Amino acid sequence: MIKQAVIMAGGLGSRLKDKTVSMPKGFIELGNLPIIERSIKKLISCGIEEIIIGTGHCSEWYEKLSRRIPVIKLAHNSNYSQTGSMGTLACCAPLVKDDFLLLESDLVYDICGLKVLINETAKNVILASGETHSGDEVYLESDTKGFLVKHSKKIETIAQLAGELTGINRLTKDTLNKMVSYMQENIDSQPKMEYETAMSFVSSSSEINSKIYIKKINNYLWCEIDDDTHLENAKSNIFPKITESESLHNIRREVLLNPGPATTTDSVKYAQICADICPREKEFGELMTWVAEELSLFAGKKGSVETVFFGGSGTAADEAMISSCVPDSGKLLIIDNGAYGARMAKMAGVYRLNYEVYESSGFLPLDTEKVKQKLISGKFTHLAVVYHETTTGLLNPVSELGRFCHEHGIITIVDAVSAYAAIPIDMDRDGIDFMASTSNKNIQGMAGIALVFCRKEALENIKSYPMRNYYLNIWDQYEYFKKTKQTRFTPPVQTFYSLRQAIIEAKIETIEGRFTRYSSCWDELIKSVKKLNLEMLVPLEHQSKLITAIIEPSSSKYNFEIFHDLALSYGFTIYPGKLSNANTFRIANIGDIKPEEMKRFTEIMEDYFKGL
Ligand code: PLP
Repeated sequence: MIKQAVIMAGGLGSRLKDKTVSMPKGFIELGNLPIIERSIKKLISCGIEEIIIGTGHCSEWYEKLSRRIPVIKLAHNSNYSQTGSMGTLACCAPLVKDDFLLLESDLVYDICGLKVLINETAKNVILASGETHSGDEVYLESDTKGFLVKHSKKIETIAQLAGELTGINRLTKDTLNKMVSYMQENIDSQPKMEYETAMSFVSSSSEINSKIYIKKINNYLWCEIDDDTHLENAKSNIFPKITESESLHNIRREVLLNPGPATTTDSVKYAQICADICPREKEFGELMTWVAEELSLFAGKKGSVETVFFGGSGTAADEAMISSCVPDSGKLLIIDNGAYGARMAKMAGVYRLNYEVYESSGFLPLDTEKVKQKLISGKFTHLAVVYHETTTGLLNPVSELGRFCHEHGIITIVDAVSAYAAIPIDMDRDGIDFMASTSNKNIQGMAGIALVFCRKEALENIKSYPMRNYYLNIWDQYEYFKKTKQTRFTPPVQTFYSLRQAIIEAKIETIEGRFTRYSSCWDELIKSVKKLNLEMLVPLEHQSKLITAIIEPSSSKYNFEIFHDLALSYGFTIYPGKLSNANTFRIANIGDIKPEEMKRFTEIMEDYFKGL
């Protein structure tokens, strides 16, 4: 699995004259976006976790970019004006951990080139194209097996033409190290060595593991921008063709305004399409370990929270907590102010726990003082509460209750299925011991993985509890995974790949940023609800801003099915209410949705309601 990319961006770009005197080439814009930023977006959407940029000329531009896009790491070549691209690549080498993609900074290219390299069986690969007539071609010569032996700008010196160098490559760390050694040995005679020189040398002189295979796509859409003619060609010819070609892979957009599974990005959907792999292989174990560690960081401070997975939906995570975390000697209080609190109570009944239910209004705030009194007077050892009651959009005061419980030695079990990864949560700060969520809501992955977050200390304590469940046993699943990097039973393999992609994207957006985007969508909704004089079930100040339960109008012409079908015909999916005592419909604003999309939905909603 390729996790890193290196972009060589140290050059002066002097052939572009005044355009690059005070700006690196990569910041030339096409379609209102710097070409480097478009390249970074493509790499991220192909599952690259970290992008190392080798800087030189006007490096401050990249420093600014790296502050905005946290997956970027910089390596500065302070001698950039006296070295070639290999000098910049050598500066990046210490940051490279494993196999990586290597690109030039001035490229405009079709994303399919990255996917082809990622899917190649060969470990060292140069992506080559057919004839470009760019006037600056680097021709590649291969041996009879297709491995690089030589490159040249003079076609007459090439014996067996294998294609033109595109500047997009895949290399192993070992091959990179050999290239760096070659540069260091020849620094005096070739101070301005280009990276392709080192590649040609290593490929032609090494044993099979460092030979570089030339993968040619004859009609590959790409260009580099070295001068004004290139730029003009990119603008009028190559870039529009790439835009069209890539758009053919777009998946029909459906905006899900139901409370999950939520809308996902195309890159999360495509991440599921990967080479078959046995989940007991090292690569998959490492992937799950990374996913667990990263998910834990969205739930608390580094090192304080463990993520335990089960193949299953959010309910499986809830059931794992209820059935694994309360010992026979324990006494559980369950807050029921909606369907999900009630569901946890049902589970407690099925497992014959010693429990009581605290019922509270589904739309008015919980009386925390009463809950606290109940916990103490009833000598409860455990509290189960839903962070965000998805039934109505009511937010429960989990931080306050968690801290109280922590002070009084009461274990807190929280269903955060619809809160996690949208609301910044710190389990340590808030004294939350166990917390459930799922891969398909605010983390914006696919359905199929149940997540239980455990505060380490609390997790250690359940170790000795006699098992009253099997598949859903948290301690067993955790212990086995720690020892083996495997789950006890078959995991949803491809769902893990898409969850990995969803995490990469969540890290870039940040949970705070995600909540801001969700809130902006909610603002659009509320504006429209107020304009239509519709009533909401929960007072605004107690709403989560993630889902809104709206009371259905009394007009006899109103029909949820008709409203639903109308919205669906425009690509918006809405959801009915879930309360027996109030007629509501629900609009969620989670997932990969944009405020402008919510605005479009509200226009449809307004048309429908005005027509009643
Ligand atoms: N808990 C809460 C708060 C939820 O919102 C949901 C689903 O919407 C669940 C539990 C159950 O999740 P699932 O339907 O994935 O089993």
